[in-house]
Amino acid sequence: MGLREAVLQGLPPDGGLYLPERIPVLPDSFWQKFPDLAFADLAYEMAAAWISPEEMPADTLRALVADAINFDAPVVPVEENTAAVELFHGNTLAFKDFGARFMARLMRYFVAQSERPLRILVATSGDTGSAVAHGFLDVAGISVTVLYPAGKVSDVQERQFTTLGRNITALAIDGTFDDCQRLVKQAFLDETLTRQMWLSSANSINIARLLPQMFYYARAIQQQMQRGISPEKTAFVVPSGNFGNLTAGILARRMGLPFGQMIAATNANDIVPKYLLSGDFSPKPSVATLSNAMDVGNPSNFARLFALFGESVAEMRAEISAYSLSDDETRRTAAELFAQTGYATCPHTAVGFAAAHADAQLHPDRQYLVLATAHPAKFDSLTGEPHALPQRLAHVLTAEKLSIPMQNDYAALKQWLQT
Ligand SMILES: *Cc1c(COP(=O)(O)O)cnc(C)c1O
Repeated sequence: MGLREAVLQGLPPDGGLYLPERIPVLPDSFWQKFPDLAFADLAYEMAAAWISPEEMPADTLRALVADAINFDAPVVPVEENTAAVELFHGNTLAFKDFGARFMARLMRYFVAQSERPLRILVATSGDTGSAVAHGFLDVAGISVTVLYPAGKVSDVQERQFTTLGRNITALAIDGTFDDCQRLVKQAFLDETLTRQMWLSSANSINIARLLPQMFYYARAIQQQMQRGISPEKTAFVVPSGNFGNLTAGILARRMGLPFGQMIAATNANDIVPKYLLSGDFSPKPSVATLSNAMDVGNPSNFARLFALFGESVAEMRAEISAYSLSDDETRRTAAELFAQTGYATCPHTAVGFAAAHADAQLHPDRQYLVLATAHPAKFDSLTGEPHALPQRLAHVLTAEKLSIPMQNDYAALKQWLQT
């Protein structure tokens, strides 16, 4: 099994998840130049440890990485012992831009070796659709169909994937997010359809999305060192839903990146915090919260974490702590943080800061790097203060929304795909 297959297929036929057979460890020569590497060079060195020249020539990989990772992940000090790692400087204002842009370019490279066009089907409750649509915009040989629940995503989210046009089409399904997911699954399982066209998914469990998420952990530690803060004292706090982001951090550590504890911050969907307490993994239906991109009742990357820790809860506890925060705590944290420091957070990032504050009670000597997973302007303000959308995104507020309304019915989807 090579990278090409794993990336294009997304999901293995046995119902599991792809994980690399072997995690490459970065050599001493990398760490010697690490403190001064530009982000693009740092990202290239890490990617090259995973992708052999047989899979992609080195100069092609270097250009691909530079094109995908065209925005930074700055560390912004917020409090005495906390700083935000801002992952929202890409096109759609959320960290998913890193994974989606990289995956799109990797797929384009692999697809170019084939004659057939590739169709990506993606179901979204909001963020994934916009990141994937922007990631694949104008990527030759690939078209994207986004299925979303009509009337159930925020206006800004909807605009981000319905105003693009070109190789991106949006279907407004008269149903819920779960219906959209079911329709997509049904299409993948439909052998008549998959004989007629080359279909792939771009969901968060594609291994190609984890790779670029390792880069910004290293970029953040590099900035800690430049601030004179030791990596070992630094704990990462990761607002988590499907646990892809956190899994990427663990993979970065296995590549040799030094840092202290990994802290998972969840909302009321507390499957992983409960697992770390009890050793019992019990998925349950998700509950709706303010941090809706983290409303996941059965985190799919848990299977990867479980394997990475040798299926041992004790081993996982040694590296990962977890906190579950309520909507009240989230709102209070965002309001206090804004009042005391002027730093505005999205609801997901606020969950992260609340977890950092809880952990600091037990570990006053830690320095926290909270991953700021989305720009505050993407969501309703938690502080009463409106947060302005960055200028470069203002155009989505005026562009025309184009989507095709569709019944919640597989036959309708299939017919549309076939014509
Ligand atoms: C997707 C998302 C998360 C959760 O990330 P996972 O990798 O699924 O744990 C957190 N915050 C925001 C803003 C997101 O879009």
